[in-house]
Parts: sequence; structure tokens; C-alpha cells
Amino acid sequence: MQPSAPPSSLPETRTGTLILGAGMTGLAYANHARGDWLVLERDGGPGGYCKTVVQDGFVWDYSGHFFHFRHPDIEAWLRERMPDDEILTVEKSSGIWFEGTRIDFPFQKNIHQLPLPHFLACLHDLYFREARDEETFEDMLIARFGRGIADRFLIPYNEKLYACPMNRLDKDAMGRFFPHADVGAIIANFVTPDNGGYNASFTYPRGGAIRYVHALLRELPPERIAYSEPVIAIDPVAHVATTPKRRIHYDRLVSSLPFNRLLQVSGIAHDPSVYSWNKVLVFNLGFDRKGQTRDHWLYVPSRDVVFYRVGFYDNIFGDDRMSLYVEIGLPQDAEVPSDPAAVDARWLAPVLKDLEAIGVTDGHQLVSHHSVVLDPAYVHINRAARADFERQTALLRQHDIHSAGRYGGWTYCSIEDNLVEARALALGLEPAPTLA
Ligand SMILES: Cc1cc2nc3c(=O)[nH]c(=O)nc-3n(C[C@H](O)[C@H](O)[C@H](O)COP(=O)(O)OP(=O)(O)OC[C@H]3O[C@@H](n4cnc5c(N)ncnc54)[C@H](O)[C@@H]3O)c2cc1C
Repeated sequence: MQPSAPPSSLPETRTGTLILGAGMTGLAYANHARGDWLVLERDGGPGGYCKTVVQDGFVWDYSGHFFHFRHPDIEAWLRERMPDDEILTVEKSSGIWFEGTRIDFPFQKNIHQLPLPHFLACLHDLYFREARDEETFEDMLIARFGRGIADRFLIPYNEKLYACPMNRLDKDAMGRFFPHADVGAIIANFVTPDNGGYNASFTYPRGGAIRYVHALLRELPPERIAYSEPVIAIDPVAHVATTPKRRIHYDRLVSSLPFNRLLQVSGIAHDPSVYSWNKVLVFNLGFDRKGQTRDHWLYVPSRDVVFYRVGFYDNIFGDDRMSLYVEIGLPQDAEVPSDPAAVDARWLAPVLKDLEAIGVTDGHQLVSHHSVVLDPAYVHINRAARADFERQTALLRQHDIHSAGRYGGWTYCSIEDNLVEARALALGLEPAPTLA
């Protein structure tokens, strides 16, 4: 461990628990923290990836952030803190755009809706699927669903999303978020549809995901959250964190920073290549009139279309103008300009062209738009990252440093998972997180 040398002229302060990040994880932890605490947040405001943009009458998140509560106590706890909010409960409808046809999601359970030659090829390959060891995500897809389904949807869709080959991910890289189905369930679905999955219904506040952030902020003293103050160095042995403004002595540190950045600022030796991830470029698009009224989002596996998914806020809110989020998966080293006009110049025209090509728009006029890059968005979960994460978190815990949250846990999880984990960590109910 080689902590960076801190600038010596900075003022010194002290806190009990220093919390890094005012996203869902950091704010949830603060709500349950014992004793004295302080949150440091790099951005000028709270929410992390749960921010909401309200523009020209449209309400947009940093890509759709919908809530699937499995713990009624967590949902009730949040709702108690948002008495004036209207929270919509929505029965999900999601589809897949496949070569000009819409079929229900998930693909593997709805192959009977495909044009006949595709259906027969998928069914044939499902029945005669090759036995192989399930070492990687790709192995798992082919071994369980056959080449027909894997090559038509599961591989191209996930390659567009993760922006990497599927043999770079573990077979369980998506945990409970992957819709598994055995042959029996697939064939049963031909006659008795059951496409619910983990998010058959979801909730969404009319004011966007940021309303849940405000619920977390409701009982927190504002002076204990320092915005626009990034941590730039941590000395794990001396229990000191440095920002551009001060040096903070702490007893315990809870970080929701991406795990590789925590290692970096803590001066902990590691192989950076072990950690890889994608970026997601999100376009929020408001149009002059309504489009299709059925789906809340559509998956697009075609490599000819620039985005992998498009979602319809207007079908959640019941609005009369089409309001979309469009997600584009990019490699971690892809250069995305910081100037939104330059992002538009490079990606907006292809996005609008492809929306027209797949029939989402039909001569609609774009009246408002916004873009944001989520970096990291989906981390690549594999054996090397898992092993290094376990080893480093054990080491950090010896210094009372706990890494939590979606990126702090280097995992694939939901907001509710973040809330459950932060509460447990603060109350000492379970040890620090492990990968999904
Ligand atoms: C495309 C996409 C769609 C998603 N959709 C859903 C969904 O529909 N439903 C759902 O439940 N979940 C969804 N998620 C997951 C959800 O976004 C995360 O689980 C959640 O936002 C993670 O919160 P967090 O607080 O752990 O991390 P973050 O939101 O990343 O918060 C970390 C905070 O740390 C701050 N920070 C970073 N560096 C520093 C520093 N040096 N010093 C101080 N602060 C720093 C950041 O600014 C940020 O505010 C989605 C994720 C993605 C990528």
C-alpha cells in the first residue's frame, strides 16, 4: 500500500464515518449511520446515476431507472419519506425488434412468434444443443439455448450492450437479471405465455428517479453533505482522506466509488487490466407527437442499428408526446467528447435514422433532447475481477474501508440492492458485499 503524499497546507478536520458518493448507496448508508458522519460528493448535486432531467415538459432519467421492490419494508420506508409524490405502478410490456418483426421479451421464450424459418432453426438448435462446459457467458448461452437463439439474440444483443465478446464474461455475469428458461418452460410459453421475469411490474415517480433520492435526503442534515468535493487521495493506514479543500481524519470509510478508482486513490497496487467495463451513451429524446402505445421498452439486437434498447417514458406517464431514452453501448476506451454538441454531431443523426428505420418514429419532429454518458455502466464480471475484488476487499476491511454499491461492489445490481446493502453495512448486519 503506497498512499499518495497529501498536500501539507490543507486544513484538517475529523469525522466518524466518511462516506464517498451521494448516490443511492452513500445516501442510504448515511440514513442508517451511527455516530458522526460526512458525505463527500464529486458532483454539484446528489443522486449519482439516479439523477433526473426535466426539460421542455419532458421528464428523463440517466436512462430509464425503474424500481422493482422485493423488500416491502424498503419500499414502505422510502414512500413514507415522499408523501406528496405520485408514484405510478406499471405492468411492464417489453418487446424485441427482430428483422422488422416485434416479438415479446424474453426472446428465448417467444421464438414461436418469429417468422417460421427462424422459429424452426431456433427450435432445432434448442433441441440438439451442444453439450459444453459453461466456463463463460457465451458457453452458457450456447449450452442452454442452442446456437439458433444465441446467434439471433442473446449474443448480438449482449455484445452491443457490454461492448465486448461474450467469452469475456462469467456464466453468471448477469446474476438474477438474466431470464433463464429450460426447454419445458420455453415450449409451455408457446401456449401459455408467462413473460413476467423479475420486473413484471415496476414503480416510477411522476417526477423521475430523483424523487427517490430526495426521499433519502429528507432526514439528512444538508451541512453533512459536501458537494463538488471529490476525494483525491486516501491513506488507508493513517485513516486520512484528502480533497482539494481539506484533509479529513476518519474512523471508518464507506466508498461507493467504482472499485478500481478506490484502489487507485488509495494507492493500492493492483493490475488495472483485471477490471474492465462498458460505457453507455444515453440520448433522451422528446418528439412532437405520440408513437406506439404498447411497449415500455424495446430491445434491438441488430448490429445495423446503433442502439441496443429504446424506452418510452410517454407510455409510462400516459403522455401525448413521444418521450424516449435510447442506449448505446461503448467500449471503456471509446472517446466521447465532453461537449454535448460534439456528441450530437457524432451520434444523433444515426440514432434518429435508426429510430425511423425500425418504425419507432414516422416523420416525428424532435423538439427537445439531452445526452449523458454513464462511465462505468456495466462492469465485466469474470473470474479475474472476482478474485482480485475478494482479495482487495479483505485487505481494505482490515483498515475499516468498505466498498459498497453497484460500482463499489463491481457487480450487476439494482437500486433496491444498493439500499439493502447500505442498510446492512451501516447496521452491522452482514459483511461487505461480494460480486453477484
Ligand atoms: C444503463 C443503466 C440502467 C439502469 N437501470 C436501472 C433500473 O431501471 N432500475 C434499477 O434499480 N437500477 C438500474 N440501474 C442501476 C442503478 O443505476 C445503480 O444500482 C445505482 O444508481 C448505483 O448507485 P450507487 O450509489 O451505488 O452508485 P452511483 O450512482 O454511481 O454513485 C456514486 C457516487 O460517487 C460519486 N463519486 C465518484 N467519484 C468520486 C470521488 N472521487 N469523490 C467523491 N464522490 C465521487 C459519483 O459522482 C456518484 O454520485 C441502471 C444502471 C445503468 C448503468
